[in-house]
Amino acid sequence: MNFYDLYDERLSAAERSLVEAAGDFCRGEFSAHLLESHTQGRAYDASWIDRWAKEGFLGLQAPREFGGHDASFLCKIRVAQTMAEHGFAAAFAINNLQGSVTRVARFGSERQRAEFLGAMLGGRTLCAPAMSEPDGGSDLAALKTRARRVDGGWLISGTKSWITNGSIIQCANLLARVDDPTGAEAAGDIASFLVPLVDGPTLRREEPVMPGVRSFRLASLIFQEHFVPAWCLFDPPGQAFRSSMSSVNAARVHVAAMCIASARAALAETVGYADSRQAFGKPLLRHQGLGWELAEVSLRLEAANALVLRAAIAVQTGKAALTLAAQAKKFAVDVAVWALDQCQRAMGATGASADHRLAMLSSETRLAAFGDGTSQMLLDRIAKGLAKDYGPSPAQKESDR
Ligand SMILES: Cc1cc2nc3c(=O)[nH]c(=O)nc-3n(C[C@H](O)[C@H](O)[C@H](O)COP(=O)(O)OP(=O)(O)OC[C@H]3O[C@@H](n4cnc5c(N)ncnc54)[C@H](O)[C@@H]3O)c2cc1C
Repeated sequence: MNFYDLYDERLSAAERSLVEAAGDFCRGEFSAHLLESHTQGRAYDASWIDRWAKEGFLGLQAPREFGGHDASFLCKIRVAQTMAEHGFAAAFAINNLQGSVTRVARFGSERQRAEFLGAMLGGRTLCAPAMSEPDGGSDLAALKTRARRVDGGWLISGTKSWITNGSIIQCANLLARVDDPTGAEAAGDIASFLVPLVDGPTLRREEPVMPGVRSFRLASLIFQEHFVPAWCLFDPPGQAFRSSMSSVNAARVHVAAMCIASARAALAETVGYADSRQAFGKPLLRHQGLGWELAEVSLRLEAANALVLRAAIAVQTGKAALTLAAQAKKFAVDVAVWALDQCQRAMGATGASADHRLAMLSSETRLAAFGDGTSQMLLDRIAKGLAKDYGPSPAQKESDR
């Protein structure tokens, strides 16, 4: 049985080759390095991002005319899943870098493309979205970072927190409230900027200590009157919040897909082990109690996979995806976290050791519950749509009269 067959049969031949190339990249040395660096309490080596970029993966969804692959959303998901089988945090962080490349290629100005795109595609300028703040996580609209208009550009002041790859990026796609003394812009409106990050008196970074999840490279960016040239304005004031939210469904499904890939890899490792480990005269897998537990993991994983695929197809085809994306992420995270726990238990003590990647995947996947909408916020989103999505249809209402 191929867990991913319904995705793969929707890909073009060129896209299937990209997924295979991603698999070749991830197996072997990279995979071993992820586990080794996790075990030693450090992030994987950033030089792997260069290698990934050189293979062209940062431009997966960028248009071909700008040097990308113009790949579909399902292809992007499959590439990310391929890496998530080896390490969730690295897959999340490395694939996160693609989002900004795609945004600049599709929506950037000519100047922004000229200044940033080549370096972004080549992995020399890594860029991440910077939205969250110490006082504005789930409640993003509470953000306080200011952008004050000055001659030739803007001065950014404020703190962005929990930024993926925050310790190594050279650019941030940052949301800030404008503060325009000329009165040209409505004060308080939210704009977004491509902010070149050069550490110095106007920018410093702080890395929180995150045991077990260092490969996300989460960091805070602290700006104090950090100058950004006028041409770096990305979404004008008043449009940035909506524009950032427009990609949130895709981001949620992307994370959900990586979660189930990590859990699927864990199940394969566990079943392989339980099939070979003998206890009381037969393989662990043939003990009914344990076999049923892993059977339960397989069925919840299949259910999560089906939901993620449905949400992914909705995103890819431009159908309404708000509820489906929230459901997919909430369910996939829950299933993955639970499945990884079950797998670890099923392997006994060795499941928690560095001989296996279950402990790594377990601690890393847990953090998927926060980025791109926490589980509670997703339930809130689903609940808001209940009447529309699951209430009686107009025809049913009519016939009930
Ligand atoms: C691995 C990882 C990567 C990230 N990457 C980025 C990034 O690249 N860029 C970026 O900008 N941000 C990033 N973030 C930040 C992420 O978006 C925030 O963590 C998220 O928005 C939640 O904000 P918070 O952590 O401040 O939690 P809070 O908003 O303080 O929430 C704390 C708890 O309260 C719950 N809660 C909050 N409001 C409600 C409510 N109304 N009803 C019920 N419960 C509620 C939440 O669900 C959560 O459980 C990342 C986070 C993680 C963990």
